[in-house]
Amino acid sequence: MRAAVFTSNSEPLAIRDIERPRPGRGEVGLQVARVGICGSDLHVKEYGGMPEGIVFGHEFAGVISELGEGTQGWQVGDRVVSLPIHHCGKCEACLQDKIGLCEQIIFTGYSLDHSGGYAEYSVVPTHSLHKVPEGVSFDSAAMVEPLSVSRRAVTRTPINNDSVVLVIGTGPIGAGVVQFARLAGAAKVIVSEMTEERRELALALGADAAIDPSSAPVADQIVEIAGRRSDVIFECVGVPNLIQQAIEVAAYEATIMVVGVCFQEDRFQPSMAVKRELTIKFSNCYAHEDFAAVLDALETGGLDPSAMHTATIGLDALPKVFEDLITTKSGCKTLIDPSGGVL
Ligand SMILES: [Zn+2]
Ligand SMILES: [Zn+2]
Repeated sequence: MRAAVFTSNSEPLAIRDIERPRPGRGEVGLQVARVGICGSDLHVKEYGGMPEGIVFGHEFAGVISELGEGTQGWQVGDRVVSLPIHHCGKCEACLQDKIGLCEQIIFTGYSLDHSGGYAEYSVVPTHSLHKVPEGVSFDSAAMVEPLSVSRRAVTRTPINNDSVVLVIGTGPIGAGVVQFARLAGAAKVIVSEMTEERRELALALGADAAIDPSSAPVADQIVEIAGRRSDVIFECVGVPNLIQQAIEVAAYEATIMVVGVCFQEDRFQPSMAVKRELTIKFSNCYAHEDFAAVLDALETGGLDPSAMHTATIGLDALPKVFEDLITTKSGCKTLIDPSGGVL
């Protein structure tokens, strides 16, 4: 089968013919219909210490093409998505069924043992599968994974119909947060975003206002729009200084939800957070219930992420597009169709 293979940090991905993975016990083979390019893939390609031969891709939807042993309840031809998580089953989190928090977590697409979706075929365990409802397109289904990250973050905050919500950064995760904050009934959803393209995307997805944080202090802009500071703030970027910015724009008793993953040391002024009795929380991954809820919202029409979809490309175009995305970080969600237009 054809796949995009990681060879080194300095070389573009290589399109190669590699052996098609076969499902073992409790697994199914999938023909990949669409797979999303994730910012983490770009980051890992540029900086990560990954072994040669890895096939990226953890945001994919496809059709079951082969059944392994002991895979009851699934049929060849079923349209599915899967949680790209391999958990140990033994740690404290796993024993409480919080598989996204597993201490030994391994993600599909970042391990030689669990090859990802930048390929014609992939293999996934049946315990990770969800059926894609009939009216939901593969384009939307391939965005279920990042949307589940956003959904989980929103459900872990106390948004109600009086809430002034601020979303810092509207890449794919922030764009999903805008939509779920809307669905949760927030009075106002405001985004703070440096790039104009992404401010426009946020407005298209239902944000009430989109501000440029470089044009004036964010707190002043929020007060001007909403009449007061924010009750719930989502940090969806993951660079230093933004938790402090969130504290500065927070109303008293506000909740700050950190979704952006910052790998550097960060600093903030605790006294300001104490003074207003803020709650600072963090959110990671998703659980099965998040996938189920996102698929349900896509089916019933409450959720329409089509504005997030920037382009669909074939495998041949991927190496160049991938390098371009590393430098420009433009658009929102680029999807790959490894089936060559068959699915
Ligand atoms: Zn991702
Ligand atoms: Zn575990």
